[in-house]
Amino acid sequence: MGKGCLFTMSECIFCRIAAGELSADIVHEDDRVMVFKDTSPQAPIHFLLIPKRHISTLLELGEEDGGLLTHIITVLGRVAKEYDLDKKGFRTVINTGEEGGQTVGHLHFHLLGGRHMQWPPG
Ligand code: 5GP
Ligand code: ZN
Repeated sequence: MGKGCLFTMSECIFCRIAAGELSADIVHEDDRVMVFKDTSPQAPIHFLLIPKRHISTLLELGEEDGGLLTHIITVLGRVAKEYDLDKKGFRTVINTGEEGGQTVGHLHFHLLGGRHMQWPPG
């Protein structure tokens, strides 16, 4: 568990999803990451990609996580293509900390698509 973690790992809902203790609508799973549907979708397609290892926020990432990050970006692109989001585009979001709007203290990448996104975000 890293500094500034909002939860202990045993209470972390995304660790529990990664461990299969809590159910989720899983889109992709491999040894390092899981992609599942957000229970409160903000777009026609709204998935969350998490590393299976507990990482609280992107602030915990370092050079040593380069392989994991490359894998995450590759999987995000692959899933986006599987759901035909590559033609019209999509949005990838990482919220960090309170003012960033992070509500779950386990690093996650939002993948949103299927509608035109606005900028600036709210
Ligand atoms: P954040 O606000 O931290 O950037 O994103 C957390 C996301 O997790 C939210 O979009 C929220 O709807 C989603 N979420 C919260 N609890 C659960 C859950 O138990 N299962 C799933 N699939 N999504 C969740
Ligand atoms: Zn966790």
